[in-house]
Amino acid sequence: MNNEKVALISGAASGIGLALTQLYCAKGYKVVAGFYDKDPHDPEAAAATLGEFSNNATWLPLDVGSKESVKEFINEAVSSFGKIDIVVANAGLLRSSPLADMSDEQWYEMIDVDLTGVFRLFRDSTQHLSDGASLVAISSIAGGVYGWGDHVHYASAKAGVPGICRSVAVELAHRNIRCNAVIPGLIETPQSLDKKNSLGPEGLAKAAKSIPLGRVGKPSEVANLIDFLTSDNASYITGQSFIVDGGLTVK
Ligand code: NAD
Repeated sequence: MNNEKVALISGAASGIGLALTQLYCAKGYKVVAGFYDKDPHDPEAAAATLGEFSNNATWLPLDVGSKESVKEFINEAVSSFGKIDIVVANAGLLRSSPLADMSDEQWYEMIDVDLTGVFRLFRDSTQHLSDGASLVAISSIAGGVYGWGDHVHYASAKAGVPGICRSVAVELAHRNIRCNAVIPGLIETPQSLDKKNSLGPEGLAKAAKSIPLGRVGKPSEVANLIDFLTSDNASYITGQSFIVDGGLTVK
């Protein structure tokens, strides 16, 4: 196994991004962990969860809604490590609003972060990607196979993510670079526990009853799939989208 991989992760200070940062650091990867400094997630608390592996993570501020911030993040990563082997476009914003009340500003904010943010990360890292590099972006079942009222902007942004991945996969295949999308169902994270914009704790507990595996997912269960896709074990898998939802969408 190559323990020297350099991995960039957006939204790394909480939820799925933090679980993946923990996993990569424990494997000996060098992780450039983007944290969003307008959020309450504390990068120091996140770093503390890495314990003995904390030296493998470099925490940098990153707002994927800002082209300047993304460029700075990539430039700092490359000047520190000289190459990029993995990019995981994980950062995501979730807001709730009935369609009739959704302003243009709310629509564009969501598209900017959840869709354009993926494009910016992939575009700006392209020239620095190594032979065998792997890219992953996080979509959502709400973007493809599962209708979710009051989330038209989120569903639309997430629906575009597998399209980015398919196109990037074809465009960069000649450099032995792969790109795939991961599509989570209901995963217990700060995002889904937010009662205002998502299900909240009670809503998750109720929803768990309709999931064939009988529970919502853990962030580490999504991180495990991302880890596989970005490992050399997935060397012939590209342009695909993978659902991790405990069977919710096949019921
Ligand atoms: P989370 O809230 O813990 O993680 C989202 C992260 O994105 C946070 O760390 C947040 O600070 C960061 N972020 C928000 N806006 C940002 C910006 N402009 N720039 C950079 N970072 C920003 O929740 P999570 O569930 O771990 O979310 C990870 C990804 O998984 C998101 O893309 C989310 O939409 C997706 N997802 C989650 C679920 C679920 O049930 N939790 C389901 C489907 C998809």
